[in-house]
Amino acid sequence: MKIDFAKLQYQYQLYKREIDEAIHKVLDNSNYIMGDEVRELEESLQNFTSAKQTITCSSGTDALLLAMMALDIKAGDEVITTPFTFIATAETIALLGAKPVFVDIDEKTYNIDPSKIEEKITQRTKLIISVSLYGQPSSLDEIDKIRKKYNLFHIIDGAQSFGATYKNRNEIYYCDIYTTSFFPAKPLGCFGDGGAVFAKNSDIADKIRMLRVHGQNRRYHHKYIGLGGRMDTIQSAIVNVKLKHYKKDLSLRQEVANQYNQTLKDKNLVLPFIDKKATSVFAQYSIRVQHRDKVQVKLKEQGIPTAVHYPMPLHLQECFAYLGYKEGDFPISELISNEIMSLPMNPYLSINEIRYIADNIAKFI
Ligand SMILES: *Cc1c(COP(=O)(O)O)cnc(C)c1O
Repeated sequence: MKIDFAKLQYQYQLYKREIDEAIHKVLDNSNYIMGDEVRELEESLQNFTSAKQTITCSSGTDALLLAMMALDIKAGDEVITTPFTFIATAETIALLGAKPVFVDIDEKTYNIDPSKIEEKITQRTKLIISVSLYGQPSSLDEIDKIRKKYNLFHIIDGAQSFGATYKNRNEIYYCDIYTTSFFPAKPLGCFGDGGAVFAKNSDIADKIRMLRVHGQNRRYHHKYIGLGGRMDTIQSAIVNVKLKHYKKDLSLRQEVANQYNQTLKDKNLVLPFIDKKATSVFAQYSIRVQHRDKVQVKLKEQGIPTAVHYPMPLHLQECFAYLGYKEGDFPISELISNEIMSLPMNPYLSINEIRYIADNIAKFI
């Protein structure tokens, strides 16, 4: 058997007629920048999430930049976040001249451990960025308490979690700004780069709309230093189609996760732990294994692709050497990055494929 990790081509074939039609409509109108489809997407994203303000943008990375620029994060500020995430979360903090301050993760959820945040707060701390890793929100109640006590902003990096809930509400409800990504491999992906920012406050949202177009408040008049950060009309048209099917995709992902849970239990593995208050969108289904490299090679020989998100925590990355962290500073992030392994995950994995993957994992661990 040969397993496809994300089945992106399969998904395209599934919605081909609708997607091709939507793309050709853009081509026929030639409104490539900020065409009607961009506003349509912002409206449908808003309906989907019940967010107050929705602004599409060029990527999940630029969404983080725009969000922090709107909050005026700058040199001298400290931003608390997790070292167990994709580089963009902390890279954007550093790009703005602010200092990423890492806090270790919870061993069960792999998200930032709120009980370790307070000891890292100083006079300079402005913001907490939590990351909903693999699609699951962090402990948002606990983060909210700290945010209120110290008067900090809270951004959720939801690049992997669009649609996830906490206490039966979209997690967007629990932060000042939520950012997401439409990178092809994310749960809601386009056919290139794209992203979105969701804000509570309308002044902040207006500022983000200006920052997205070079900080201009009218054409060629620039109130802020901004970005060329718009989402393409074509990409918006594609996400518009996919969003119509997204609720179904999410329940299929949940079903695949349930089937993995069933077939992999009693195999002496650490499976994903989902907090009772939360739902995950299962961007990834990641398990912990010893001797990961060996297991990955064996699975690959059987036609089963796997991936590692992420093999090196951010405090040990060369680009952050100037922060002065060393091995041992965040032991849980280091442990998990050595053992974590993502299995093929998409809405269309069949029960036969899942059984085949589970049987082979049992053989090789
Ligand atoms: C993918 C990802 C991003 C960046 O999104 P892009 O659209 O690729 O720029 C940021 N944060 C996290 C946690 C991600 O997984």
